[in-house]
Amino acid sequence: MNTRTQEDFIPEDVIEEVRLRTDIVEVISDYVSLQRKGKNYWGLCPFHSENTPSFTVTPEKQMFYCFGCNLGGNIFSFLMKKENLSFVESIKNLAHRYGVSLPEKELSPREREESRLRRRFEEIHEWAASYFHDLLLSLPEGEPGRFYFAKRGVSLETMKSFRLGYASGSWAGLLGYMQEHGVQPYELAEAGLAIEKETPGKDGRQYYDRFRNRVLFSILDRRNKPIAFGGRVLDDSIPKYLNSPETLFFNKGHHLYGMHRAHQGIREEGFAIMVEGYMDVIALQNAGFPNTVASLGTALTQDQAKLLKRYTQRVVLLYDSDTAGIQAALRGGEILRDAGIRVEVLTLTGAKDPDEFLKSYGVEDFHKALRGVLTYIEFKYRTLVRATPPQNIPDKAELVVKLAPDILKVISPVEREGYERFLSLELGLTLEAVQREIASQEQKKSRKERVEQYYPPKQVNSAKNRDNIIDAIICKDQMGQPLPTVYLGVYRAERTLLRMLLEDISHLPRIKAKLGESFWKVSEHQQIFNYLNQDGGLPAHSDETVQSRLASLFLEELDISQTERLLDDCIKEILSTQAEERVEDLQVRMVALEKSGDMAGAMALLKEIGERLKRGE
Ligand SMILES: [Zn+2]
Repeated sequence: MNTRTQEDFIPEDVIEEVRLRTDIVEVISDYVSLQRKGKNYWGLCPFHSENTPSFTVTPEKQMFYCFGCNLGGNIFSFLMKKENLSFVESIKNLAHRYGVSLPEKELSPREREESRLRRRFEEIHEWAASYFHDLLLSLPEGEPGRFYFAKRGVSLETMKSFRLGYASGSWAGLLGYMQEHGVQPYELAEAGLAIEKETPGKDGRQYYDRFRNRVLFSILDRRNKPIAFGGRVLDDSIPKYLNSPETLFFNKGHHLYGMHRAHQGIREEGFAIMVEGYMDVIALQNAGFPNTVASLGTALTQDQAKLLKRYTQRVVLLYDSDTAGIQAALRGGEILRDAGIRVEVLTLTGAKDPDEFLKSYGVEDFHKALRGVLTYIEFKYRTLVRATPPQNIPDKAELVVKLAPDILKVISPVEREGYERFLSLELGLTLEAVQREIASQEQKKSRKERVEQYYPPKQVNSAKNRDNIIDAIICKDQMGQPLPTVYLGVYRAERTLLRMLLEDISHLPRIKAKLGESFWKVSEHQQIFNYLNQDGGLPAHSDETVQSRLASLFLEELDISQTERLLDDCIKEILSTQAEERVEDLQVRMVALEKSGDMAGAMALLKEIGERLKRGE
């Protein structure tokens, strides 16, 4: 069949609908790691080999274009080229992904039935959301709900944008309303909004409303359509939280609360904040953290991790600081990490949840707390130490063994060494000993396997793609990573300092006053700094690594409202590492003394190291 006749099966308006619903940045992100800069996104071109991003995506225009190989087009042309699809196939692919029904003659009877049921499901949820919402906003029965949200500082505007609702005490309120819309009670039960009574009445099967006496949170999908509800009681009755059950079209593990706004927010902020409660999502999103989501009353699932991975490489877990919350963070962190996401954990002190924290301390303090996130491994370390403080060498060794599997999963050698140093300093062990212990835990797991975890084989479905992925790894090694002896924190601090200097050269005297002129650990950074230090100008011609690094620095987003603090943080980071390095010299000397048999000398040094660490040097 030629393409022309096939194309005739898909009417123009359907093609247009697919195009409108498609998020070009999201689709291309499956192939290219994109970074936002102004209105556009930039990444390494998937169609030609390059080290400096020249591939752009313009969401506004829904187009992509490469300045390197001059290839461009819309999302259909991208998929056709990238996946070797025909035009029709590319439409089908996207229609499936974004839930657009194609003309029915394309569907089998079973598919047709499913599509009918899905439309009905969406329709029922739309009506139900309006019913609960009107009850909350304007009917007398909604008073307890209004009182509850008002008490928690939720504005009318928020009630509207999150489509909050209220279910009264009536057993047949929704049932009655739906019957006016021609929805049969059994349909409502299939949608999860009504429950069938166990004993049928005189006139057959009997039903009652699932949600009663609760405030309701509409669970909206990315298209802003309600697909389920979460309900919370206002008193002490049980269960406190009640969610829609799983149905043919709703699977809790596949969705996240708040995603209808967060899919945009996560991209813009570059990371996601994962919280426990629906109110936390609302409070944080309203306070200017549009990248906040929560799972739907269950532990984080692999599917949710995959969903997040489509938008970001970095997630900050912000769970309650009680035992349950800590366990949830440890477990959730593992799932996210296994999905290839960088996990950090934020612990708030002085409030039981983020909502309360914001009310007591305000947004600025939350920003401050957010800057103090721990990496997943640090968090796990602190949790383990708090549970059982290590008393002696065997305790310490056991702690290292417990963390080894996590450290072994870190791909970047720099970062891995960073963790090994961290443990060595924290526990007062030599770096060598820590590394030996961790290496001995290293299982058969080859590096290849670890790489595959981060670049799942799913994407490697053609020889061409595979080449691109290898390219991507090489590029990363060339320009994305520092020399193996530089701490990740210092590397980041150096980059940020340079980025700030590029933006505003007037920071130069302050940096020089605090750090001198030759503190840079990464030689390209030193070179760029030297240029800036000489005449404030940039090299027009210099070797390729310097140029690529400059390009990548320019692409880095800089929050200019925070320069003062950023500058201080970076300087502090570099100074504290310099102090740590002095401790490290002591460690090296200690190992040498140990080897030469001077145990007394080694012990004396160990004591010295311990004291310095205690002083926080
Ligand atoms: Zn290109």
